[in-house]
Amino acid sequence: MHYLCKRYTCTQYYLMEKVAPTATTPRVLLIYTGGTIGMIEDPATGALRAFNFTYLQDHIPELQRLGFEISSIQFDPPIDSAAITVDLWIRLAHTIGENYDKYDGFVVLHGTDTMAYTASALSFLLRGIAKPVVFTGSQLPVGRLRTDGKENLITALQIAAERQADGRAMVPEVCIFFDKYLLRANRTIKCSADQFEAFASNNYPHLAYAGIHIRYNEKHIYRTPEGEKADLEVSTRIDPHVCVLKIFPGITPEVVQAVLSIPTLRGVVLETYGSGNAPTDDWFIEALADAVKRGIVIVNVTQCESGKVEMGRYDTGIRLGQVGVVSGFDMTTESAITKLMYLLGKGLSPQEVGVEMQLSICGELTQN
Ligand code: ASP
Repeated sequence: MHYLCKRYTCTQYYLMEKVAPTATTPRVLLIYTGGTIGMIEDPATGALRAFNFTYLQDHIPELQRLGFEISSIQFDPPIDSAAITVDLWIRLAHTIGENYDKYDGFVVLHGTDTMAYTASALSFLLRGIAKPVVFTGSQLPVGRLRTDGKENLITALQIAAERQADGRAMVPEVCIFFDKYLLRANRTIKCSADQFEAFASNNYPHLAYAGIHIRYNEKHIYRTPEGEKADLEVSTRIDPHVCVLKIFPGITPEVVQAVLSIPTLRGVVLETYGSGNAPTDDWFIEALADAVKRGIVIVNVTQCESGKVEMGRYDTGIRLGQVGVVSGFDMTTESAITKLMYLLGKGLSPQEVGVEMQLSICGELTQN
């Protein structure tokens, strides 16, 4: 189980601008974790290294013109998102929880490499959220002439501050804004290492499109169902004893057995072919059956970038269901693995986790 990290501290860093605030002036908290957006080139090596928030603000003076009250908090030190940990997810969730009542919305600047994982994790850790948490970053640092960071940040801030006519938040969920599209966090994958359009949500429509105007796709935005508790509840526990096992033609019994016999393992996201198909060799099915009997939750997601698992469609999928593998339907791997950590962290039994993995918590899957 993981609790608050000790190594990184989040410090209230800089109050960007004091506009004469009125009761309706939007208040946004900007949380800078690191990533390319705020990096500068080391003159000696040419490599990119993380820099602090003042640098970012100096390169985007337009932030002053938004007319919002923007406060910022930064990870100290800022990190490349390849260094993100579950401790930092919890720290981030706490930071939002501690500041929840003070702001209308939150923007998290994060490296693109693991943004889909962190944003998915946050969507589960922040239960009952009624305010926007918009993740963004960039493919080029803000100091570069053709940076995408500027547009991404400015639009993310506007989305975080957007309200409906009745004053409630327009997008009360955890999402990712990148290169014109606002996407549900737990539906998003990083799809390109070098294009500005670096993220995709192939199984769920975008929540907004930012052209000349920001057009919201209101019917697809998640809102806590009527009658459900609307207070924010920040989860503090995550169980990281999980893994992703991607099958491939030629995978050997040694590999599968080695993974499934890890003593602390409690959950596996099994990346299968097409609509949830896997080899039907006895050794493979028996290895899975044995793991399920030992209380390991195995969730079937597809290796394809779009579409969903239908375990009743082919014999190969049916066999998996028969030995207790559960369907992840159309969940992304990022969503499935973080949801598994979240549910296991709640201390549920393997059966309960198996059931909940197949139900939508906050719009991360569609069964039919
Ligand atoms: N390596 C960087 C990171 O994920 C890449 C980026 O931000 O785009 O932090």
